[in-house]
Amino acid sequence: MRVAIIGAGVMGLSTAYYLAKLGAEVTVFEQKYLLYGASGRNSGGITPMIDKKELIPFALKSLELYDKLPAEVDFNFLFRKDGYVKVAASDSDAEKLKRDVRVQNELGVKSRIIEPSEVKELVPDLNTDSIVLASYCSESGVIFPWPVVWGLAKGCRENGVEIKDQTAVDEIVVEGGVKGVRAGGEFYKADIVVNAAGAWSNKVSEKAGVKLENKILKEEICVTESIKPYLDPYLYDITYGVYLSQSARGEIVGGITGREVEEISTDSTLEFAARYAKRATQLIPKLKGLAMLRQWAGVYDEGKDGLPVVGFTEVDGFVQANGLGKHTGMIVAPALGRELAKLIVKGDNPNLKEFSPRRF
Ligand SMILES: Cc1cc2nc3c(=O)[nH]c(=O)nc-3n(C[C@H](O)[C@H](O)[C@H](O)COP(=O)(O)OP(=O)(O)OC[C@H]3O[C@@H](n4cnc5c(N)ncnc54)[C@H](O)[C@@H]3O)c2cc1C
Repeated sequence: MRVAIIGAGVMGLSTAYYLAKLGAEVTVFEQKYLLYGASGRNSGGITPMIDKKELIPFALKSLELYDKLPAEVDFNFLFRKDGYVKVAASDSDAEKLKRDVRVQNELGVKSRIIEPSEVKELVPDLNTDSIVLASYCSESGVIFPWPVVWGLAKGCRENGVEIKDQTAVDEIVVEGGVKGVRAGGEFYKADIVVNAAGAWSNKVSEKAGVKLENKILKEEICVTESIKPYLDPYLYDITYGVYLSQSARGEIVGGITGREVEEISTDSTLEFAARYAKRATQLIPKLKGLAMLRQWAGVYDEGKDGLPVVGFTEVDGFVQANGLGKHTGMIVAPALGRELAKLIVKGDNPNLKEFSPRRF
């Protein structure tokens, strides 16, 4: 079976890796370079403590895969499991945290509600007046997204996958079903074409004549100068959408979760820097005065009902693998890619039923 995958982000590469292990002949096309998409621009927060119950089993499976994959591909993903704290700054969000933790616990996630005083033990210098309640999961942490992409790419190549960077897919050839893709002026024959183009997925889908209406989100993020390591867990304020963690080099890496946009843009804004700095220093006053060294932005997509879009479409051989969502893409991609590989090879996979493109 010949498979063409469009997009060398974490979704395209994990699907390619597991497909190759199942014996498929795989080519991955990337319009720019590895790390160009959201997979090279994110904050690497990894936790099963998420608020969409359909994604939790995939988050738990991915945590296992993130433990195994580095040895399999012989590449250190720099995953630091120092926990993940979600804080709420309003009573209604505090109630949401409680509801979410109940669902998470039912599905096997070891998360729990903690009071602001306990958060202060995990996050020294936290201003407890700035929050109402929090949830915490120790089996979580921060991964460095670049080695995840590089490591998956290495594992792909070692299993015979060809990765063609600087090679945009311009056309998906459909005659009855998919016949292949045209990229960089050449035709590549394929039995299956996988759309793992992240924020570009709607446009790519159009090339196969399949309507896709994923939301496109833009998210800004920044990094400060290094300070002595002191912040262990990843901290995410669900009321303000502000999150931050400390890198192994001591920098504070943080941002504000994505906003829906009409057009793809990775421009940075001063408005973001001001909003982020205001809330981050309310949460941790010690950060006041730190120099912001660099800021950037990334774009990603989310299914229009908030869930990923993964599976066969009405065009024979054309497969969606996109819509991974706000702060869940890095978390679920390894498990989702593995299940998608099984679906493609076997023709069926009940584990992906909820994400089928045919649900719309
Ligand atoms: C600032 C920021 C912070 C985030 N923080 C987190 C977090 O803490 N935790 C988490 O789980 N998620 C986080 N995310 C979300 C996460 O990064 C994404 O969900 C995930 O990386 C999406 O992976 P993907 O493979 O679907 O898309 P991408 O990584 O965007 O890959 C798609 C690729 O397709 C390529 N492409 C597009 N069109 C074509 C074409 N025609 N031909 C060839 N190639 C094409 C693109 O160039 C791109 O490289 C964050 C995102 C951002 C921007």
